[in-house]
Amino acid sequence: MDIHEYQAKALLSDFGVNIPQGGLAYSPEQAAYRAREIGGDKWVVKAQIHSGARGKAGGVVFCDKEQAVWDAADELLGKRLVTHQTGPKGKGVYRLYVEEATHIRNEIYLGFVLDRSSDRILVVASAEGGMEIEEISANRPGSIVRMSVEPAVGMQAFQAREIAFSLGLPGNLINQMVKTIMGCYRAFRELDATMVEINPLVVTESDDIIALDAKMTFDDNALFRRPNISELRDKSQEDPRETRAADRGLSYVGLEGNIGCMINGAGLAMATMDMISHAGGEPANFLDIGGGASPERVAKAFNLVLADENVQAILVNIFAGINRCDWVAQGVVQAIEKIDLKIPLVVRLSGTNVEEGRRILEQCRQKVITADTLAEAAEAVVGAWKKAQAGQRG
Ligand code: GDP
Ligand code: MN
Repeated sequence: MDIHEYQAKALLSDFGVNIPQGGLAYSPEQAAYRAREIGGDKWVVKAQIHSGARGKAGGVVFCDKEQAVWDAADELLGKRLVTHQTGPKGKGVYRLYVEEATHIRNEIYLGFVLDRSSDRILVVASAEGGMEIEEISANRPGSIVRMSVEPAVGMQAFQAREIAFSLGLPGNLINQMVKTIMGCYRAFRELDATMVEINPLVVTESDDIIALDAKMTFDDNALFRRPNISELRDKSQEDPRETRAADRGLSYVGLEGNIGCMINGAGLAMATMDMISHAGGEPANFLDIGGGASPERVAKAFNLVLADENVQAILVNIFAGINRCDWVAQGVVQAIEKIDLKIPLVVRLSGTNVEEGRRILEQCRQKVITADTLAEAAEAVVGAWKKAQAGQRG
C-alpha cells in the first residue's frame, strides 16, 4: 500500500526525521489559510497524489504571495495530474500540502528498499539527489552508495556514519544525517514498510538536514497489525478495479487488453498470459481466485472480471488441486445464469472433480465454450473474441 507524501512525512517525523512546516488543504481557502498559519513569504503548494515526478508535471508550485497559493490550489484541485509514473489517465488531485519554502544548498537521495535477492534491507544513498534514482544510476552511477543491513543486529550507527561520510557531508552535519538515516530505518522496520524514499533530502542554507519529499510503501500482508497505517489508505489513488477486488479478498491485476481472465495462482496467470498473446490476443486483467474457492467466491470473482469495461471475452482457466472444478463451475453458473451474457466465455477446467465440473457447465442455459488444454482454451477465447468483434462491426 502506498501513502501520500504528507502522511509519510508525519510518520518519519515521529522517528526524528526533520520535515518542513506544512499543512494539508482541501480547498483554495484552506491553502491560503495554511500559508498564513505557516508564516514567512515563500511557500510550496504540492499536489498529493500517489506518484513521484510531480515537479515536472506541474504538481509542485512555488509561491511568493498568499494569493498565488490560493491560485495554485484552485488550479490543482480536482485536476488529474499525469506524470510519467501514473500512466496516461493520471491521478486525481483532491488534497494539497502547503509548506514553507526551503533554501536548498544541496540535494541528497536516500532510499530504503527490501532487497529480495539478499533478504535484507538495502540502504541506497547519493549526493546527486533531486533526480529520480533511475536517472542517477544512469547518469551518475559512481555517486551511489549501497549498504545492506544484517537483519539479526539491525542498522548500526557506524553504518549510518559511513554513509554520511561517503556522501561527502561536512563534520557538523554528520550527526544530523545519522539521526535521519537511523530514524528512517526504524520507521521502515517498526511500521512494516517495504520502501522508504526521501528524494530530495536537503542540506539547507542554515545547515539543517530536511526531508523535502517522502515516499513510503507498506507490506499489504502486515496491514492487519498496523491499524494506524491501514487508516492512511486513499482509495481515490488506486485503480478502482483493483480496489473492488482487494475489498473482497481477491487479487486482481489490471492490464491493457480485452480478454478477462479468471485463474488460480500466479504461475498459471503467467502461462495463460503467454498463451493468449501467442493466440493473438491480450489480457484485460487477471483475477486470482486463490485456493479452495467456494462457489460464492468464484461467482464474486467472475462478476469482478465482468465488471471491467475493457473485457470483451472471458477465459476461465482453473487447474484445480486444492480447488474443486465442480465448485468453480457452480460459481460461474451462479454468476451467469441471472444475466444476459453478451460476450463469449471459454472455460477450461482440469484437476479435482473435473467430470462433475464439466457436467455442471453442460447443463447451464448460457452458452459456455469448453476446452481441454490451455492452448485450446487460449485459441478458443481469442477466436471467439475476434469473431464477436467482427460481428459487431459488420
Ligand atoms: P516530486 O517531483 O514528486 O518528486 O516532488 P518533490 O517534492 O521532490 O519536488 C520536486 C522538486 O522541487 C524537488 O526535487 C526540489 O528540487 C524542488 N522543491 C520542492 N520543495 C522545495 C522547496 O521548498 N524549496 C526549493 N527551493 N525547492 C523545492
Ligand atoms: Mn521527489
